[in-house]
Amino acid sequence: MKHKWSEKIGSDEGHSSRKVCTRDGCEIVCVSRHELNERGFQQHWKEWFRGTELIQRGGNTPVCEAVEVPA
Ligand SMILES: [Zn+2]
Repeated sequence: MKHKWSEKIGSDEGHSSRKVCTRDGCEIVCVSRHELNERGFQQHWKEWFRGTELIQRGGNTPVCEAVEVPA
């Protein structure tokens, strides 16, 4: 199942944006970060959180663990 992402929300400092999976039981947070490193190159990576816990940095998007709601 694919995540059902909310609108992206930019951060105050402008170096990251976040979106949240709105499916029940998943609610994973995807943070896109982009910063300049010390040599002036743009770096970009993603982090995924559940609550305040970092569950993955970089790589492929974790699977959606939404609860199937019977119709
Ligand atoms: Zn999800």
